[in-house]
Amino acid sequence: MARPYNFSAGPAAMPAEVLQQAADEMLDWHGSGMSVMEMSHRGKEFGEIMEAAQADLRELLAIPDNFHILFMQGGGLAENAIVPLNLSRGGQVDFVVTGSWSQKSIKEAARYAKAALAASNAESSHTTLPAPGSWRLSADAQYVHICSNETIHGIEFHELPDLKALGSNAPLVIDFSSHVASRTVDWSRVGLAFGGAQKNLGPAGLTLVVVREDLLGHALPACPSAFDYTTVAANGSMYNTPPTYSIYMAGLTFQWLKRQTEGGLSGVAAMEQRNIAKASLLYDFIDGSSLYLNKVARDCRSRMNVPFFLRDEALNDAFLAGAKAAGLLQLKGHKSVGGMRASIYNAMPLAGVQALVQFMREFEKARA
Ligand SMILES: *Cc1c(COP(=O)(O)O)cnc(C)c1O
Repeated sequence: MARPYNFSAGPAAMPAEVLQQAADEMLDWHGSGMSVMEMSHRGKEFGEIMEAAQADLRELLAIPDNFHILFMQGGGLAENAIVPLNLSRGGQVDFVVTGSWSQKSIKEAARYAKAALAASNAESSHTTLPAPGSWRLSADAQYVHICSNETIHGIEFHELPDLKALGSNAPLVIDFSSHVASRTVDWSRVGLAFGGAQKNLGPAGLTLVVVREDLLGHALPACPSAFDYTTVAANGSMYNTPPTYSIYMAGLTFQWLKRQTEGGLSGVAAMEQRNIAKASLLYDFIDGSSLYLNKVARDCRSRMNVPFFLRDEALNDAFLAGAKAAGLLQLKGHKSVGGMRASIYNAMPLAGVQALVQFMREFEKARA
């Protein structure tokens, strides 16, 4: 039986092939007689899983050799503290606040460093992105933080800022939780990237950190050892017990990503093409309709998270009930924004977006 299409913002849908493989391997991983959940993280079996996951991710995201891949815990929110604990040296850090997630980040960083607001889009109710040329960057900032895809407001940086061109030598920190692996990353512009796995990589419990080698070694004395990037890197992400099953599931997702092809491309480049097609289909339909509305400026609309409104809000409950009956799940918008939100991460096939658009069209027609 076909499964419904799941538009959850996170934890989000995973590829059915990955879930099926995990089910097949649940009781006995590769003849080991053990479930992955039951293995020592120091054993040979899990060692293979860990090594493959890191190598596959490095290949998929084209992560250069001078960056460490760290598998941590605590999610994006913990990184809001862990990044300043490791990188701020107690000095000034600059934030570009473009929505709920970067707002949370600046607030948390202020507990450990002098957090300055370099730019904000609050006057547009988080529907635009402030042009990098207008950012007030401080000369002595230890890093500049942006959220490269604001999951709740549905806005995305389609090009990472080139801080050097803006006269800054500070490393760029990106929270890429909700669009990691949906598009290629220009690592020449990035010092550190972090993200929870539960949007686009796997189940909750795993946090990915990709950090440039030269940024290690400056953690504040108060930084917990398990959160000191230098310690985590030196121990191959096994200073403490890592989230083994989540790493395994993410590893299966990386293998699935490597198998994807589109228009002669493979891996993340293939996903990017598919994600562009999915997002265009949905935004074009919304823009052409007289019932639905997306308020985000066109040049910064997220390919992953599409918030939209019904112009007649009284229809919201009927819309959600009808969608559920049509096999379209978890479309309710975030409570701070209202309306609807369709999260269309890598695991959402084009057919899922087509089914959503078809339902939306029929729902609108029935009420015209
Ligand atoms: C989901 C999300 C987070 C929060 O992640 P947790 O794992 O809940 O801590 C942080 N940043 C962004 C952009 C997110 O989408």
